[in-house]
Amino acid sequence: MRPDAGRQAGEQFAWRSRQAVADTAQRINFRSAMDFLQEKRRAQFPDDAELAQLRDLGAALRGYSLAHLPRLLEQLEARCRQNGMQVHWAETAAEANTIALDIAQRAGARRIVKGKSMVSEEIGFNHAMQAAAIEAIETDMGEFIVQLAGEAPSHIIMPAIHKTKRQIAALFAARIPGAPYTEDVDALIQIGRQALRREFERAELGLSGVNFAVAETGTLCLVENEGNGRMCTTLPRVHIAITGIEKVVERLDHVPPLLSLLTRSATGQAITTYVNLISGPRRAGERDGPEEVHLILVDNGRTQAYADAALRATLQCIRCGACMNHCPVYARIGGHAYGTTYPGPIGAIVSPHMLGLEQTYPLAFASTLCGACSQVCPVRIPIPELLVQLRNAAQARASQGAAMLRGAGAARRPLVSAAWRAWSLLYGRGLLYGVGTWLMSRGRALAPVRQGAWTRCRTPLRPAPRRLRDLLRRGRPQTPIAK
Ligand code: SF4
Repeated sequence: MRPDAGRQAGEQFAWRSRQAVADTAQRINFRSAMDFLQEKRRAQFPDDAELAQLRDLGAALRGYSLAHLPRLLEQLEARCRQNGMQVHWAETAAEANTIALDIAQRAGARRIVKGKSMVSEEIGFNHAMQAAAIEAIETDMGEFIVQLAGEAPSHIIMPAIHKTKRQIAALFAARIPGAPYTEDVDALIQIGRQALRREFERAELGLSGVNFAVAETGTLCLVENEGNGRMCTTLPRVHIAITGIEKVVERLDHVPPLLSLLTRSATGQAITTYVNLISGPRRAGERDGPEEVHLILVDNGRTQAYADAALRATLQCIRCGACMNHCPVYARIGGHAYGTTYPGPIGAIVSPHMLGLEQTYPLAFASTLCGACSQVCPVRIPIPELLVQLRNAAQARASQGAAMLRGAGAARRPLVSAAWRAWSLLYGRGLLYGVGTWLMSRGRALAPVRQGAWTRCRTPLRPAPRRLRDLLRRGRPQTPIAK
């Protein structure tokens, strides 16, 4: 790790956040979108007791899958192969791209149509294909919009949530040949669909994500609302499904409760319009479906999370996005400020394993630890606890047991550590604490007026004129916080 890498990551994140907060229009967009999504989720879970039970079940099912992960992955591989799929393992993002590129080149693909896949975003799939002169076209409407705009998704479920219909209208008119300018949402959808239909017909290869991979049957479950996922997985001659290793579940009957939690938490729907269950390539006598199905199972840092008993809970995630929709920080700065594929609370806990703490530790600090994320998480991931653990790892010495996390110690600053050690010394000894606070209250006039980031939007902190113990000794309360 470069010695200044951590500092740079912190400064860049702070800069992006300031820019985002200063963008009033975007803040209004995000606020109203988050309110809308929260309301839709609330309407899906009117019964607190039922929700609590379902969350318990979801957490238990995901916990069970993780507890048996190696066995389930082997079983999944064996059953998928029996079903005629080809299974590939990728330890890194680069390896996953190499595998996908090899499949694409052997298929003679010049054009790939993509269903929604956050793992493909995570590994930089589009750039890797572009470098080999293969065009990867996003077909999920939100992804299509951000691809046209040359941007990254700002939300894991709704990639273009930061855009207004005016912005989309201008984008379509400028970038889609022959598209008229219209702010009619239905007309915009039709324009997008027409453009995409041509791509489905021409593509030689389709790529999709996977919501759940069922070990006992070798089935890939994929949910979506637009039908584009079904087109990507059935029309082209070759289909690649790409997923993180944590998405495996043991049995087909484990899927419905998880699916119910996913769709209700994500988009406030009882069920999505399409639920695709893919069990292999086209069989003799079948009229549609691909000739080849490839499953790429991606690690990309997930085994680092798996190796830590507490951080392993990160892998329970079913990527519903509810934690983002309820996060006061995400609602104010939006997804792009995070600078990672996965923003918001889930991004803060998963990204360090993919990119290292040196690049991502500031995200763990971008939280008030209010707990809203863990209260809505359908699989009960204790996100605030994990954030605190990552904060500690980022500030720990390598010798303090956090060395197993890539980039541990990246946020460590000798001066800050010394200040906290001094504080701990003072706080742990009654006499020293008494003298220290007496000196501070007497010298309160010397408190600096400018106190770094704190005073950028707050009044300066000053010690009170009387210590709490003095007020208590007098026996009658006075103004507790004097200016
Ligand atoms: S951490 Fe929980 S709430 Fe957030 S995306 Fe994952 S499952 Fe959903």
